[in-house]
Amino acid sequence: MLTIATVGRRFPSGTEALRDASLRLQTGDFVALLGPSGCGKSTLLRLIAGLDQPDSGTITWDAGHKPQPGEIGYVFQDATLLPWATTEENVFLPLRLRGLTRTQAQRDIAAVLARVGLTGFESARPQQLSGGMRMRVSIARALVTKPKLLLMDEPFAALDEFTRHKLQADLLALWRDLGCTVVFVTHSIYEAAFLARRIVLMTPRPGRIAREIQSSLAPSPETRLDPAYATLVADISKAMEAALA
Ligand code: ADP
Repeated sequence: MLTIATVGRRFPSGTEALRDASLRLQTGDFVALLGPSGCGKSTLLRLIAGLDQPDSGTITWDAGHKPQPGEIGYVFQDATLLPWATTEENVFLPLRLRGLTRTQAQRDIAAVLARVGLTGFESARPQQLSGGMRMRVSIARALVTKPKLLLMDEPFAALDEFTRHKLQADLLALWRDLGCTVVFVTHSIYEAAFLARRIVLMTPRPGRIAREIQSSLAPSPETRLDPAYATLVADISKAMEAALA
């Protein structure tokens, strides 16, 4: 899908956030970018989204494909919803920006809200929803344009552990059903091990890709109870310690 080749990013402030980062994304991947805070994970995600440009290296879409608006979905740690708008209106926003009327968008909005478990909450405003539900709205808003690539920047970091576990399991089901490619930024080894097929370990600033670990765990909620999950967490922890040394 996408090749990131020896990408570097130094901000005008002088901070070198990324150095020589290389990664290939295959269609259907679920990749976790894992590393401590400040190691350049969000910077790399923004570069993939085209929200920022690298100072060195290249990011190339396969077959010269340039992503069109709506082909990339982006979910932030904060749900970033319009506080005065209802669930439906918040999810409608990307389609409205693409020129669709509410009537044209209605079926897609209803389908995506059903898919994230928000049927019945169409008219609620963000302050009437729990943190987990607000994040579901945010995910629905990212999915309503049917993106090929879903970029997620620590979307569950602010949620309590029970809600986080539920949303993680639901995200895996979504990924299996929708077949889109996911790049997920996290500083949680447990989260990366549970969700991702490929765990990409980054070093502290300037962020570099230290190594990649493949997961063969089943993408399923039962994975948390699987001894192989504990082994994978231990393997990632050891590799992360080496990357931080
Ligand atoms: P992470 O997502 O791994 O926590 P970031 O990619 O957000 O890390 O940031 C990497 C480094 O770059 C940090 O030191 C951060 O302060 C710095 N940084 C991020 N964005 C900017 C910016 N726009 N201008 C200057 N420095 C930035």
